[in-house]
Amino acid sequence: MALIMFDLDDTLVDQKAAAQMWATEFADDWNLTADQAMHLADALDDRRPKDEVFARVISEFSLALTADDAWRAYRNRMPELVRCSDDDKAALDVLRSEGWKLGIVTNGMRDNQEGKIRATGLDRLVDGWAISSVVGARKPDPQIFESMSRQLGEPLSGWVVGDSLEMDVIGGSRVGLNTIWLTTDVTELARHDVEPTLIAPTVASAARSIVSNGNGQSGLRNEPI
Ligand SMILES: [Mg+2]
Repeated sequence: MALIMFDLDDTLVDQKAAAQMWATEFADDWNLTADQAMHLADALDDRRPKDEVFARVISEFSLALTADDAWRAYRNRMPELVRCSDDDKAALDVLRSEGWKLGIVTNGMRDNQEGKIRATGLDRLVDGWAISSVVGARKPDPQIFESMSRQLGEPLSGWVVGDSLEMDVIGGSRVGLNTIWLTTDVTELARHDVEPTLIAPTVASAARSIVSNGNGQSGLRNEPI
C-alpha cells in the first residue's frame, strides 16, 4: 500500500470561487466599491499566509474592523462556501477501494481548513489530514509531508496531487513522492525548474492516472487537459 496526499484549496475544494463569494458578501456588508471588492478577491487568491493578507487589505480600506476580526469572520464562513465535486468524491472512493491510503496536506489555520474538510464530507473520504498551523510547518517544507506519513502509519512513498507547483509539486518531489500537477494551463511550467510526474485537469482525472499507473514510473501517461 502507498499514500496519496492531496492538497485542499483549489485541488479538492473550489477555494478561489468561494473566496470570491466571501469577498462579495464582505463588500456588501461594508459598502465597499466594486474595485475594492475585486482587490479583496485578488488578495485572497494570493498563496500567502492570510493573516498578512488581511492586515494589508483591512488597513488599505480604513474600516472600523480589525484585521483579526475580518480574518476570523472569513475562516468561519469559508467552510459554508466551498464545494467538492461529486466526480472528485467518487474518485476518492475508488482510490480507497484500490487500497490507497489518502491524506490531505494543506497550508492554513485549523478552524478554516478542518471546517472545509468536514463541511464538504471529505473527512469521511480520507484517512487523515495535516494542517500547517497544527504541524508547525508549511508546504513545501518536508516536515508537513513527513508528519502526514507518520500519522497514517505508512512509509513516505506514493503521490502528491495539487494545483501549486511551488507548494505541492516541489514539496512532494523533495521528499521523493511522485507528483501530479492539477492545471489546465501549463504555461507556468516555464517559470519553474521543476517537472511534475504527471499533469491532470482534475482530481478525478488524476485518480484515473494513478489507478492506471500504480506506483511505478513506467508508461506514465497524462490525461488530456
Ligand atoms: Mg492549492
